[in-house]
Amino acid sequence: MKHLLSREVLNYTIDGCFVGDIINFNEIIAVKTMREVLANDDSFCHCDTCIEDTYALAMNSLPSRYIQVTSEDKYTQSEDYIDDQKVRESIIKAMEQVRAAPNH
Ligand SMILES: [Zn+2]
Repeated sequence: MKHLLSREVLNYTIDGCFVGDIINFNEIIAVKTMREVLANDDSFCHCDTCIEDTYALAMNSLPSRYIQVTSEDKYTQSEDYIDDQKVRESIIKAMEQVRAAPNH
């Protein structure tokens, strides 16, 4: 069953313009960083619930940074840029929260 909030179900087209490729840049960094952090931490539970909770907590603790694919260079050189280290810190903090009170 497809969930109502599934990306497969949402229609991102506005007046013929597809905006689904405008993404929160922090999501890309968070996914990549979480893979790295989890690969090096066997003590953290790797079940879907704990991974989803960690990702959601980390993303909610970071301001969103929606950009067009063509604006990556402009964004990464701007004052608003949130670097990998800040995203990593948010993930580590979220993991600590999940570890202390897992929902699985
Ligand atoms: Zn778990």
